[in-house]
Amino acid sequence: KPTLAEKLAERLGGRRTGGAVHAVNDVSLNVVRGEVVGIVGESGCGKSTLGRIVSGIYAPTEGRVTLDGKPVADGREDHVNKLTTRVQMIHQDPFASLNPRMKVGETISEGPRTHGLVPASEVRTRTRALLEQVGLQGDYADRLPHQFSGGQRQRIAIARALAMQPDLLVLDEAVASLDVSIQAQVLNLFLDLRRSLGLTALFISHDLSVVRHVCDRVAIMYLGRVVELASAERLYADPKHPYTQALFASVPTLGTGRRDFHPIKGEIPSPIDPPPGCAFHPRCPFAGPRCRAEIPRLTEVGSGRSVACHLNDGGVDREDAA
Ligand code: SF4
Ligand code: MG
Repeated sequence: KPTLAEKLAERLGGRRTGGAVHAVNDVSLNVVRGEVVGIVGESGCGKSTLGRIVSGIYAPTEGRVTLDGKPVADGREDHVNKLTTRVQMIHQDPFASLNPRMKVGETISEGPRTHGLVPASEVRTRTRALLEQVGLQGDYADRLPHQFSGGQRQRIAIARALAMQPDLLVLDEAVASLDVSIQAQVLNLFLDLRRSLGLTALFISHDLSVVRHVCDRVAIMYLGRVVELASAERLYADPKHPYTQALFASVPTLGTGRRDFHPIKGEIPSPIDPPPGCAFHPRCPFAGPRCRAEIPRLTEVGSGRSVACHLNDGGVDREDAA
């Protein structure tokens, strides 16, 4: 059985320190009840790993995840299941995430039945109600996944997650595999459910326009670290971190309204051997000596915004950085 570190290494790669692989480092993030927090970054930045740690699929090598102030997992495998009942994850691929041989009604009711959340006599009624809540017909419960489109399957995946009455939803690229028009329908469903049920969610996405549509706050990740955290409103109006700025500039329909496309200079470095200091320095137009020597810490810069960049914390020139 592979160790957690090996699983992480195989999934993503990451910084190796004494055998452990760190795909995500020093991430401190709180989500307030009723809030939707976006996690944005290019592929390989560690956002999915973060989502899996929060969901209890991976145990963190260090640190902890708490819900209402109580640790939900302490890194021991046997605690992982307890966590997953309170945190539900919705994955990118609606074709892979449903068991093709299981009627969707069984898929939706399996978790609540296993965990005794719903009396047996009410399972069927409750399943039908959940299907209706996500905009499908109650009698679809007797159908198999192949009878549904991608958008409908993602609705079913949402119903399955809601069936557990989770405290937190983790959506990992939940609409990324759908056509744009279907994306909009599923996002609107999510917004409706959010309003009616008061959902709390982590919304992981590489798509800045989707994130703007649904998130209250947004964390921008680069190579396993959060580099900027702000309300969606402030972040989109005025991105502060050079990486956030580059990310916005690379999306032609966002930001200044310019139509030109500015891909970010250079490749994303390998997370197995990240650059020293600020991991963004090989691609950053503002990099100075300090950036190559010292990892910038996520620091409050006012208005509830935090940025991890030496430009906002004493400048980039000092070489004697502690
Ligand atoms: Fe650029 Fe330096 Fe800021 Fe990193 S710390 S983003 S290299 S200016
Ligand atoms: Mg991913």
